[in-house]
Amino acid sequence: MGAWDEYCIVCGCGLIVTPNEEGVESKIIKSQTWLNKVTVIDQANAVYHSGTYNSYGSVIFGKQKKVINQIVDEKNFAIACHDDCYDLLQNELKYTIKMSDVKKKLSSSLNLLKISYSLNKKSYDQFWNWKLLSDSDIQSPLKNLHNKKRILKIWKPMVKKFLKI
Ligand SMILES: [Zn+2]
Repeated sequence: MGAWDEYCIVCGCGLIVTPNEEGVESKIIKSQTWLNKVTVIDQANAVYHSGTYNSYGSVIFGKQKKVINQIVDEKNFAIACHDDCYDLLQNELKYTIKMSDVKKKLSSSLNLLKISYSLNKKSYDQFWNWKLLSDSDIQSPLKNLHNKKRILKIWKPMVKKFLKI
């Protein structure tokens, strides 16, 4: 099986920007480094920050590897989001994302929920096609108000149910 991109369970954007084109890609990588910093939450709700997606369904933390795709490891797979998206839910909703909360909503093939992220669905290709998204969609939600609002609109009602408030 070849390489593929995985996505942030919180915002729906890629966990990596694949550098397969000269110029434009390297420019975006420099300004979008937040996309490459990945938080993983495992089955026991243990949390690991600032890992790197390896293009084969896992996130690397030094010598440790965490599988984030159910097809790769049906029993022990973890879920993943951007460090900034994890912080956003904590800062704005006082919510810590948990495997036990989102497990039933997980898509069976990718690290995404079966919800609408309000993003162009065509961007979910073998490799994340970020060119189909607007500029604000791929800005950090800690810095971009439009993206912050998009994500909170999705998560506010879900978090209410998770916390039963
Ligand atoms: Zn995200």
